[in-house]
Amino acid sequence: MLRVLQKSAGLILTFAVCALPQTRFHGKAQWLDNAKAVVTHTIDDTTKFVPASVDAMDKHGIKATIYVNTASKSMDELWPRLRKAVADGHEIGSHSRTHPCKWPDTEEFCGAAYTDAEISGSRDDILKNTPQPHVWSWCYPCGNCARYPFIQKRIAAAGYIVARNYQDEAKNGHLIPNLNTFAANAFDAAYTQVVQKKGGIAPTGNDELPKLNAKFDEVYAAGAIYNFMSHPQWLDYGPDAFYEAHMRHIGNRADVWYVPLGPLYAYRALRESTQINTMGKRFELSTSLDRKIYNGSITLEFTTSQTPVFNGTALPERKRGSLTQWAGSFFRREGTRVWITVPPSGVLEFR
Ligand SMILES: [Zn+2]
Repeated sequence: MLRVLQKSAGLILTFAVCALPQTRFHGKAQWLDNAKAVVTHTIDDTTKFVPASVDAMDKHGIKATIYVNTASKSMDELWPRLRKAVADGHEIGSHSRTHPCKWPDTEEFCGAAYTDAEISGSRDDILKNTPQPHVWSWCYPCGNCARYPFIQKRIAAAGYIVARNYQDEAKNGHLIPNLNTFAANAFDAAYTQVVQKKGGIAPTGNDELPKLNAKFDEVYAAGAIYNFMSHPQWLDYGPDAFYEAHMRHIGNRADVWYVPLGPLYAYRALRESTQINTMGKRFELSTSLDRKIYNGSITLEFTTSQTPVFNGTALPERKRGSLTQWAGSFFRREGTRVWITVPPSGVLEFR
């Protein structure tokens, strides 16, 4: 009899525990909206081919950093297309004003070439001609000068948070990088692979579709960052040509986050810096970073059956679909597992 009573009590207790709405915090997701992998793209130079490259990206949901030379004569024609690109979630980065470039890139050359006009002037040109709130990304013309700490310091002092390199193209050094994560030094940042024909002083290009796609597949399987770069003047255009065919393979995937390079590096800083203070079922998020520069969201992982409420407003639920922004507030549910994407300052509760 006693045994039966104990059993019943146990059953009642179990039932009571299950009926309680439980909310458990598991931590920050690695990528926004708990994406499996990240795709970022960069294109270099001011040429008449830039719009065709961006049009091709837009068909496949790819988001790029578009590096331009802001003193180029063609910029007047290009700015309207770039303003649309910013509205579509791309980033405009600086490739200097006049593309100073020389081999060998001695300390003397770099010291003289990297003037305030080239570094800050090009940044201000972008701010003046686009609605972009900040210029996050720099790209070294010809890959020159990227290795010098004194040049990196000048880039950082102008507010850039990442600077992409392009090494030793005369000896095919640009084909080597194979970087599938964040660069150890953000001011000498490499990429996963080049996607372009032979061009410039390089002996070889990288335009074989099976090879290009295989590299993406490897990075995707590892849940890492696939970061590809191109010069629009060294591409073939059309749905069956290698550039767009490669983007068709890697684009519009529901479990990939598509984001330009600058906002991706800003996300890393935001994710690392965000403090979360827990008081029962109330989570207070805060960051000391400047929200004009670090203007994205981060994703928190919970187990809960309740509805997340952020700063007093119930968050909208979003089904998994390709994620092509870096800001916003929403949640996504898979069973009792919930991923909540919100800016890094405010109060998160559950109701
Ligand atoms: Zn260039």
